Amino acid sequence: MRKPIVAGNWKMHKTREQARQLVYETRTDLLAIEAVESVFCPPFTALEAVAELVAGTPIGVGAQNLHWEEQGAFTGEISAEMLADVCAYVIIGHSERRAMFGETDETVRKKMRAALAAGLIPIVCVGETYDENQGGKTGEVVTRQVRAAFDGLSAAEASGVVVAYEPVWAIGTGLAAEPEGANAIIRDTIRAPIAGMFSSEQADRVRVQYGGSVKPVNAGDFFSQPDIDGALVGGASLKAADFIAIVRAAAG
Ligand code: PEP
Repeated sequence: MRKPIVAGNWKMHKTREQARQLVYETRTDLLAIEAVESVFCPPFTALEAVAELVAGTPIGVGAQNLHWEEQGAFTGEISAEMLADVCAYVIIGHSERRAMFGETDETVRKKMRAALAAGLIPIVCVGETYDENQGGKTGEVVTRQVRAAFDGLSAAEASGVVVAYEPVWAIGTGLAAEPEGANAIIRDTIRAPIAGMFSSEQADRVRVQYGGSVKPVNAGDFFSQPDIDGALVGGASLKAADFIAIVRAAAG
């Protein structure tokens, strides 16, 4: 039985004080929903402030990116070890990073290894663009991204990974995917290749989120799908009531 996991990707939003405020507004309700793992992913600058407010509780904290090298002359970058000092999760390969900051399957692969070596839990994002979707390339693209992300991992490492299936055209657009279709993509182009690389038991253990315009009004439709184990939430995670409602929907 996979425990649902709902993570809020705050992107480049919130000062430390604003971040604390959002935690104050959500913490009590989220802690009451024990059937779901909730994770806040604030910007680097607010990681510690958020971590302090949820320390000792089951609420998780995650970063939005990392660098694969351990240390060195990489101005502006942050290593896995630095993150593991303050948080337990890290988002890897978000489509905004792939589209705007040169992230590739190869950098995702290196970041996955670095994160796992430091004991972080990766939330690795995969998903097709609008053109790829329209060109009938969804399966090919998503499977390629999954294979790169899981390449070289041990079975034990693989089972701890969280995958977020985020069709790029659905992120921040209000145009969520259709839940049955998203479930089929997760089953056929995410779990199936993981089963091929490891085993079907292993693929069954991996938690796979849907992401892309998840709101309180549509969250339940995604969570009722058999292969969807939660959500990676952008815009709606910035509003306390919406994030709480989505986490509540994941509890069933
Ligand atoms: C995201 O940032 O990963 C995301 C899914 O954003 P939104 O929920 O706003 O579409």
